[in-house]
Amino acid sequence: MDISNYLKIKNIIPSNVNLLAVSKGFKSYEIQIVNNLGQTEFGESRFQEGFQKKEILKDLTEIRWHFIGRIQSNKIRKIIQNFQYIHSVDSYKKLEKISIVSYEEKKNPSIFLQVKLSEDPSKGGFIPEELLNMWKEIKTLKNIDLKGLMTINPKGLSSSDNKKLFKKCRALADSLDLPDCSMGMSSDWQEAVSAGSTWIRLGSLIFG
Ligand SMILES: *Cc1c(COP(=O)(O)O)cnc(C)c1O
Repeated sequence: MDISNYLKIKNIIPSNVNLLAVSKGFKSYEIQIVNNLGQTEFGESRFQEGFQKKEILKDLTEIRWHFIGRIQSNKIRKIIQNFQYIHSVDSYKKLEKISIVSYEEKKNPSIFLQVKLSEDPSKGGFIPEELLNMWKEIKTLKNIDLKGLMTINPKGLSSSDNKKLFKKCRALADSLDLPDCSMGMSSDWQEAVSAGSTWIRLGSLIFG
């Protein structure tokens, strides 16, 4: 791992954009190195892997853990117990369960709703119309802090197509009065930032 990658990125991203360091597939000592450079937000996409690293690093109390992977219903309680942010809530059913379990656990996780803006069979998420139709019900759910929307673009898009989809996500978030958009990864974060991302999720660019 080359720490100059992290420092370079940190220097060029606008100050209104939050950087989530995605540490999935990387080791806890690498998280510690990046944490020593001042990074506090870390993302994991598999519960067990994230949980193990969190245990190893439990003395680093300033780290905030973000869950960004596919949510299995039977892991929701453990995810809520261990992660302050959940970026990948992809259905109303899961959101409702998160709300109920958060109440039981006396937690109030920050939530991003994952939206599906293009045909991509490998990705889940709310369809925009579905989100708009359910919005009233979503707003009544307790013990969730709705921050915004999250999206993952299909691989291999041109820069302008990436930007188009990110702008759709931003417009949808704006129409719902949601401040945040979690969008942009190592290969497309610049398009995401120019479209109004407030959280970019970078793994290989930082740790690779
Ligand atoms: C792995 C992952 C990332 C980071 O991907 P990189 O291409 O390594 O930056 C971001 N978001 C999600 C949901 C991921 O699973």
